[in-house]
Amino acid sequence: MTQRGYGGPLRYVQGPGVIADLGRYVAPLGDRALVVIDPFFWDTLRPELIAAFEAARVAATFVRFGGESSEEEIARCAAEGRAAEAGTVIGIGGGKALDTAKIAAFRIGARTVTVPTIASTDSPTSSLGVVYTPDGVYDHVVRCGRNPDVVLVDSALIIRAPVRFLAAGMGDALSTFYEARSNIESRSRNYIGDGYAATIGGYQIARACHDTLMRDGRAAHAAAKHGRVTTAVENIIEANTLLSGLGFENCGVSGAHGIHDALTVLEPTHHFLHGEKVAFGILCLLVLENRPPAEFREAASFCRDIGLPTTLADLGLSEVTEADMAKVGDAAMLPTNVIRSVPVELSAGIIADAIWTASALAAELSA
Ligand SMILES: [Zn+2]
Repeated sequence: MTQRGYGGPLRYVQGPGVIADLGRYVAPLGDRALVVIDPFFWDTLRPELIAAFEAARVAATFVRFGGESSEEEIARCAAEGRAAEAGTVIGIGGGKALDTAKIAAFRIGARTVTVPTIASTDSPTSSLGVVYTPDGVYDHVVRCGRNPDVVLVDSALIIRAPVRFLAAGMGDALSTFYEARSNIESRSRNYIGDGYAATIGGYQIARACHDTLMRDGRAAHAAAKHGRVTTAVENIIEANTLLSGLGFENCGVSGAHGIHDALTVLEPTHHFLHGEKVAFGILCLLVLENRPPAEFREAASFCRDIGLPTTLADLGLSEVTEADMAKVGDAAMLPTNVIRSVPVELSAGIIADAIWTASALAAELSA
């Protein structure tokens, strides 16, 4: 692969209260918008937004997000958007609401604005949308061809969510650099268009994501626990959202996400957030790639300090059997699994052994 490619959103704006300016950012994109909004914000946020859109002379139609980014929900939102002749689709909520808005916009040829209300996911900046079945089982990924036109991140809104979401976002963001490195070493394609080699810019963003987490993650967690917005919190919101989003899309994911996906065959893991499972997946990846012990210690102690799972027991898997883990290994080896960009030889047994070992090492470190 000799062609290198980079992509990202046109605008990223973050700060306390920026949602009040939503109308101002949407107006240049078109005068009719569909707003897919998490029902939690229907009564609290919508009245203020209606006023903001009126002031900006944007005709906005609001729909309540149904809770799952399923084909049915996407079709419903796309139909609403068509009926409203919306030139812009705005998603306000968590990752699934944003993905629904992005895919609905793609289907009706509209522009996209994402307004995340939690910092637990790197969906807001990316051109990818994940589709689930109506019962919440992962189905497939849609490449929307373009990234959002505007990503608006209101830190005062995000700090109101439970700190567990910010911590989970740090788990997801922590995977970005390690997984980027796997992809560089295995010369895998990134997620821009049909896939290119990563740029220096993409890789350096992934590295900055890691360094920001190490510097500010613990301080941000301590502040966010009490609903305080500090510079460290702002830095971590940026790392979780912009740096992690650009890093994964421009470099690719690998074993932390691959093991995350495989672990979902075990029911107890369903009670954990994406970034929590990815955090444990990072430790497994570092064992799989046999990285220096200092790297493992750094990642494990960071995760432990902000309450992310580092052992199988932390993920509700203290009773896991050899047979269960063989199933996880098999799931990880499915041809569609992203673990393939890990630059070492893989088998179901090698993966299962790495998972057991990561858990044991992390337990030893915290003893
Ligand atoms: Zn992720």
